[in-house]
Amino acid sequence: MNYNYDFDIAAITLYIVILVTFFSHKHVRNTNSKVFLGLLGCCFLTPVLDIIGCEVITRQASEAIVYFVNNFYYLTEQATNFLFLLYVLSMLEMGSKTHIVKKILIVAPFAIVALVIITNPMHGLLFSYIDNVWTYGPFRKVIIGLPIVYFGWAIIFAFVKRVNLAKKDGIIIITIAIINVTARVIQYKLPAFLVHSYAVSVGILLLLLGFQLSGKMLDPETGLANRSYLAEAARKYIYNEVPFTLVMVRIADYDMLTTSYGIEATEKYMRNLAVDIKKICEKSQIYHVNNNCYAITLLKDQEIHADDIKIRIARDLNEPWKINDIEMVSSYYITSVSYPYQCPDRETFLSYITYFTNMQGVRYGIVAAEELQIKDKRREEAVEQAIDRAIKNKSFEVYYQPICRTKTQEYVMAEALVRLNDQELGPISPAEFIPISESNGSIIAVGNIVLEKVCQFISNNNLDELGLHSVEVNLSTTQCLQRNFMTVVRDLTAKYKIDRKYLNFEITETASNCEPAIFTDNLAMLRDDGYHLILDDFGSGYANLQRLVTNDFDVIKFDKEMTQRTCDDYKLHEMVEKMQNMFHSMGAKIVAEGVETKEQYEFLKSIGCDYIQGYYFTKALAEDQFIAFLKEHRK
Ligand code: C2E
Ligand code: MG
Ligand code: MG
Repeated sequence: MNYNYDFDIAAITLYIVILVTFFSHKHVRNTNSKVFLGLLGCCFLTPVLDIIGCEVITRQASEAIVYFVNNFYYLTEQATNFLFLLYVLSMLEMGSKTHIVKKILIVAPFAIVALVIITNPMHGLLFSYIDNVWTYGPFRKVIIGLPIVYFGWAIIFAFVKRVNLAKKDGIIIITIAIINVTARVIQYKLPAFLVHSYAVSVGILLLLLGFQLSGKMLDPETGLANRSYLAEAARKYIYNEVPFTLVMVRIADYDMLTTSYGIEATEKYMRNLAVDIKKICEKSQIYHVNNNCYAITLLKDQEIHADDIKIRIARDLNEPWKINDIEMVSSYYITSVSYPYQCPDRETFLSYITYFTNMQGVRYGIVAAEELQIKDKRREEAVEQAIDRAIKNKSFEVYYQPICRTKTQEYVMAEALVRLNDQELGPISPAEFIPISESNGSIIAVGNIVLEKVCQFISNNNLDELGLHSVEVNLSTTQCLQRNFMTVVRDLTAKYKIDRKYLNFEITETASNCEPAIFTDNLAMLRDDGYHLILDDFGSGYANLQRLVTNDFDVIKFDKEMTQRTCDDYKLHEMVEKMQNMFHSMGAKIVAEGVETKEQYEFLKSIGCDYIQGYYFTKALAEDQFIAFLKEHRK
């Protein structure tokens, strides 16, 4: 037979290109890339052995050589199918947890075929070579079927575990399967046409381009594994129930470093840190989570060294480092968290990373995982559903907390506070659900419901008779950033025929620093329409003085923690008094929030605080109770 080697030579050339490309790119060393290398090696041998196998037949070499080379060829060719399936499984993160029956079904076909191939010289079931005559045996049909089995498995597993795959990845796997099986059928029908190896090499090229070089796992600057890789690694460990500890290191004042020393020096500083971490945690995987944060995963017996590692990294960071002839030192956070003890699932683990990379106001240095408020993702999702239910059923309630005017000891204002009592989760504090609602945008709907209920309250009651001058509604930044915000306010107040003097709006101190023009425009429109603006939680964040003046607040509400701290610490008395005088001179009134005791009340009254709100009088009350409270205390 005249064999045509063109496709084999093309395949060998392609493999060389793939090999060079693979090694010239930085890649993450993981099971996936190891299986890829094995697959590549095996695939490379196949066309080489194919050519040699055909040549020894053509040149009528000795039986031993013909059997040896061709058996070896069949073995590598069949191993390719098996390794391809292993590659797909490693991509789908199906490892040690795979059921034993599945493992047998995966390994058995290849094991049986390999046994037949190795013993072929004894029985000639695959081929025989006697007196320089090559004859195919009945087993040839079986080994044609094997790739169909393995590619079939690969497609089935990819389908079952599709949550672990991007759509594009699934398409690549199916394409490779189709190319391979088609080429296999062609070569079976036309044995001289050695197209199969070339089809395999095209498949490997697709794997290289689609998965190995996709770059989504590496940070292009440092060549280190990135945050996505960390997320994938965590998913894999948690899926396979492999205990591990994650150590994280974050340079706390990265922005300060870039402004003081420049970006180049700061980046050098970060690279130095990476080198030091590598030295300290020799065999562990290190990740560049973001520009100022690294992470290390410690497996099995390395876990016990987590504390030691944290101390060594901290000691290292305490020393100034010479970068570009200047000494650089910075503050840092270092922490560690273990699966499964501290992080029971992947979602909690990911929110831990997010929290660590963004946290503020925590003391610098080594931080215990318990000190970080790791968000419970499942609870968050449950709360999200509860919010959706309450929006759908309009079942949010609005409670009212009276605010007392110190001069006359009358309740002249009230703050409207939303309440959520879910059938499944019970009462959920606004401190928990408002931030969740803000993060998913449902706060707009929540805010509208609250505003409508407050409008109903104002329209159903005679506030003058109750002694109330106004009701305060809390606004979220997101609400004030909507272009239709004022339309909503105007529509609702018109619908319930509300006299605007009865409604005030509260904006938190942090929100007051909000930059976009739409925000300040909306506040200006509220003021133009005659509403009073209240700066909520003053003292809890950092109000920008210029913004305070621009936004022209009528009332400044001291944050409850600040109120309580001031009352407890006499050194702060003078400062608060002076601050109060400053706001008074700007024409603003002061509300002290969170007053719980008589002493606090007396002190604040003595320094001339205009209004007081707090549990000292009452908690927020449901509408009926609130009206009863006002009637009871009406002078
Ligand atoms: P906030 O606007 O600062 O409201 C005051 C919070 O302090 C209320 O908590 C109130 O119950 C609580 N409080 C009042 N007096 C005392 C006291 O003497 N001691 C203590 N420890 N706490 C006191 P609540 O109702 O849990 O609300 C928490 C936060 O949720 C509010 O803080 C506000 O930022 C937000 N919120 C509540 N209702 C709404 C709403 O309708 N819309 C928006 N956007 N946010 C809301
Ligand atoms: Mg408030
Ligand atoms: Mg407040």
